[in-house]
Amino acid sequence: MDTQLLIGSRFEAGTEAEEHILNPRTGGRIIDLAEASHTQIDAAVDAAERAFITWSQTTPAERSNHLLKIADAIEKNAHDFAALEALNCGKPINAVKNDELPAIIDCWRFFAGAVRNLHGPAAGEYLPGHTSMIRRDPIGIVGSIAPWNYPLMMMAWKLAPAIAGGNTVVFKPSEQTPLTALKLARLLADILPEGVVNVITGRGETVGNALINHPKISMVSITGDIATGKKVLAAAAKTVKRTHLELGGKAPVIVYDDADIEAVVNGVRTFGYYNAGQDCTAACRVYAEGGIYEKLVADLTTAVSTIRYNLADDTENEIGPLISKRQRDRVASFVERAADQKHIDITTGGRTGSTEGFFFQPTVVAGATQEDEIVRREVFGPVVSVTRFSAKDDVVGWANDSDYGLASSVWTRDISKAMRAASRLQYGCTWINTHFMLTNEMPHGGVKQSGYGKDMSVYALEDYTAVRHIMINHG
Ligand code: NAD
Repeated sequence: MDTQLLIGSRFEAGTEAEEHILNPRTGGRIIDLAEASHTQIDAAVDAAERAFITWSQTTPAERSNHLLKIADAIEKNAHDFAALEALNCGKPINAVKNDELPAIIDCWRFFAGAVRNLHGPAAGEYLPGHTSMIRRDPIGIVGSIAPWNYPLMMMAWKLAPAIAGGNTVVFKPSEQTPLTALKLARLLADILPEGVVNVITGRGETVGNALINHPKISMVSITGDIATGKKVLAAAAKTVKRTHLELGGKAPVIVYDDADIEAVVNGVRTFGYYNAGQDCTAACRVYAEGGIYEKLVADLTTAVSTIRYNLADDTENEIGPLISKRQRDRVASFVERAADQKHIDITTGGRTGSTEGFFFQPTVVAGATQEDEIVRREVFGPVVSVTRFSAKDDVVGWANDSDYGLASSVWTRDISKAMRAASRLQYGCTWINTHFMLTNEMPHGGVKQSGYGKDMSVYALEDYTAVRHIMINHG
């Protein structure tokens, strides 16, 4: 198991407080890891600063070749990465192997191609005798901070466009899930020039806080909680750093009477509970029209009660546990408070799902209303609420009545109705008759308090590069 930080070309152990890295399936300890010291954080930033001088001057083709080699190296080690990610996050092995790893490898390959195809406006004479052109240049050193729900995928989403764009990076994984990042660091050190990517571990309030306040860091990219995003903004204000924020979500799922109910039930069973609901796009806030509501609740309840978890044969599991006891207890408290409401019915699940480990039963909360906490706050667990609406209600208004604005979906056979709703929904993404599906060619990111950074797609490359104007006076 790789346990050392990558600073320039050196691997060394952290020297500060130790963090227990736990197996969420059992609650048992995998390993203790010491976090980086201030000296080590500074050394990582210095290494990135030195590397920037040459890396920022490489051609897109050169950088592309490095990204392709990284993709190949991950692919070659896919089995080991999947096993380690499953261990550290408690994810079912098949989900990591078959869903996450291919998407991660494709992300590196996508940016290898995209960086060679960045286009801009034509150069031209906008003042007589002067020719103007636009360049997209790297920003500098990016401080990149990832959450625990998809550690290796978030690392790909953050590193690939940043280094493709010519930046160098100091990357900090979540203190709960650093293991695949430390393993990837070994491969990166063999492929990339010294200092292009540095990996340091540690807690948010210590190592993360030092990174976001570091005067030499030009951009902070973070996926995490809204509260953390606000701290990044406050820190960024001091030296006017660029920020790329991917914060939480509370995705509305609008189901009209004419929807294909089987597709809705299958869709919510999959997209509401995938990764035990620890997904900022999870289909967790269903609004069902009156004519379909009762059957939807009944069928969804039956379907969700068959979700397989905590089986000894992990290849049979569909979802894993929550990442920590704290997170599991937080989910449980949301459901307990919902269950205390007279108008709410917990139609399946509702309890802790195991004696050991951090499982929570897949849960359906029926009868929730727009003002209920369970409809308004991000639970980040295997819990879906269902709220009834009628044709006279402004359901799109309800869906928009949220601080979040990441993902949404509309389910109907009437494409005009779907398009009308989609045009009004204030979300970074709206799916029609599906949910959750991502592809590396398309942007992922929010509006409102869900943040504004775009991951994947050419828009991420734009986020990680600065537009510059060059003007030539030719008389
Ligand atoms: P978190 O905000 O607690 O932690 C995220 C990362 O930020 C971790 O690496 C953590 O160490 C670091 N961090 C925490 N405090 C910090 C500070 N003061 N300074 C610098 N860094 C700090 O979030 P989490 O609990 O790891 O992840 C779950 C959250 O992430 C959920 O709210 C979820 O919705 C969100 N999320 C969003 C997206 C998206 O694309 N929008 C994707 C995944 C997760």
